[in-house]
Amino acid sequence: MSREYALDRYRNIGIIAHIDAGKTTTTERILFYAGKTYRIGSVDDGTTVTDWMVQERERGITIVSAAVSAEWKGYQINLIDTPGHIDFTAEVQRSLRVLDGGVVVFDATQGVEPQSETVWRQADRYKVPRICFINKMDRVGASFEGSIQSIKDRLGANPIAMQLPIGFEAAFKGAVDLVTMKAILFEDELGKEPIVTDIPADLVKEAEEARAKMIEQVAELDDDLIVKYLENEPISEEELKAALRRAVIASKATAVFCGSSLKNKGVQPLIDAVVDYLPSPLDVPAVKGTHAKTGEEIERHPDDDAPASALVFKIVTDPYVGRLAYIRVYSGVVKQGGQLLNPGKDKKERVGRLIRMYADRREDIEEVRAGDIAAILGLKYSFTGDTLSDSDKPIVLESISFPEPVISVAIEPKTAGDQDKMGDALYKLSQEDPTFRVHVDESTGQTVISGMGELHLDVLVDRMLREFRVQANVGRTRVSYRETITRPVEKISYRYVKQSGGRGMYGHVVFDMTPLERGNGVQFENKIVGGTVPKEYIPAI
Ligand code: GDP
Repeated sequence: MSREYALDRYRNIGIIAHIDAGKTTTTERILFYAGKTYRIGSVDDGTTVTDWMVQERERGITIVSAAVSAEWKGYQINLIDTPGHIDFTAEVQRSLRVLDGGVVVFDATQGVEPQSETVWRQADRYKVPRICFINKMDRVGASFEGSIQSIKDRLGANPIAMQLPIGFEAAFKGAVDLVTMKAILFEDELGKEPIVTDIPADLVKEAEEARAKMIEQVAELDDDLIVKYLENEPISEEELKAALRRAVIASKATAVFCGSSLKNKGVQPLIDAVVDYLPSPLDVPAVKGTHAKTGEEIERHPDDDAPASALVFKIVTDPYVGRLAYIRVYSGVVKQGGQLLNPGKDKKERVGRLIRMYADRREDIEEVRAGDIAAILGLKYSFTGDTLSDSDKPIVLESISFPEPVISVAIEPKTAGDQDKMGDALYKLSQEDPTFRVHVDESTGQTVISGMGELHLDVLVDRMLREFRVQANVGRTRVSYRETITRPVEKISYRYVKQSGGRGMYGHVVFDMTPLERGNGVQFENKIVGGTVPKEYIPAI
């Protein structure tokens, strides 16, 4: 069998957003226009396809990262639904690990919100190239420009506006495409047939200025284009798009689009942008791992002929078919009925069924090839973060790199006037330290800081005093504020080299560590796989 799509025609993407920005609605519309849903679901009546769990429907939040495939103009788009709620940032991380690109959705009336900063920083950490969608352009107070400014100011990003909105708030109609210089209007109720027409006369001048600015921004980032630009040579649409694609993939810029998912406006140009500007599996660096026995460092490229390697990024209990393990295949081919090794657990696994999820159906498939995403039914031992590999060429892929904070306290400045200074200090400290997080508790409005233990937080509070001159009151410690203490949070792999027997052989041992509560603090339990973890490998708390 050969590939249905060439590898450069896959897009593994996630829709990333602050809760309520419209991630679910946007995902739903993408699936609708990409031809696989027969009716538009609605978050408000609880009928969307990516929100799987009843609990989610009740709460209206997405806590499950299901992957759904869609087709758009000869491309396969695998949409990995990432949760937006702060309580589930560990989930966001897990999905970021397997995506090649992201669409970050913002609410046009809010621009960048505190939690968008969190997910943005996580996406930075995983080097996920991004484009932005300024949603809710139909709402009172919506501002495309203001939102772009906040992306620049608050995220320190380099946003490039690719459109100019047409119409304002309730009269929002569509946008000018600054590459083609055509207006795209959405007039029918379902927005199924966008009208491509001339730019309205009153917007021509503004559109020309916006285009000039866009070209300048793109040219500045591209060695080839800048020469042409400076010499006033004509730049073709293809050259412009290719240069922007390079810039987005290199995370030097983010292309920004606008629309209203709810009103079915602007979504198709966004899907075009996913294809045009976000990377294919060929555009991202090879995945890294270590040989499960020798510890040798290995890179795996998205090559069908290489030994199989895949990462389990989500376990979902599907109400109809059972326990599904969503995998991203990095190299080789995973075949239905075949056998794989889970090298971390040293267990053989049989691939019972391979299933591709579409918005409107599940499809049994015979194989999943490098660069693609699907779900396996029938795995017994494998969990989120585990590698599955060829038995003869066992590899453990790089797993999720940072543990989640396990302890939280509320914090406030001793002097009320220091609120901004404290915010600034906390922001800077959290930038430095990925295991230190800050957020505002939605119910109490209090600032809450989270970290790896009391000492960790004490040190940071002390640094705030010494380096930023902010004195703070700290509340009572809450252990494991965001994760239940009794279940394994995620596999934290600690590798060490151990001399085995007298034969001078060196091997790697991978441990699963389960955080568990001990008195006031938190300790990591050192068992599960492969015996006892040497004391020095247990994270200091
Ligand atoms: P999520 O939490 O990011 O997944 O956001 P949802 O898709 O659940 O949307 C949150 C709320 O915003 C819902 O009530 C949606 O109906 C509403 N919403 C989503 N997109 C738009 C939009 O383009 N315009 C308006 N006015 N409301 C929207």
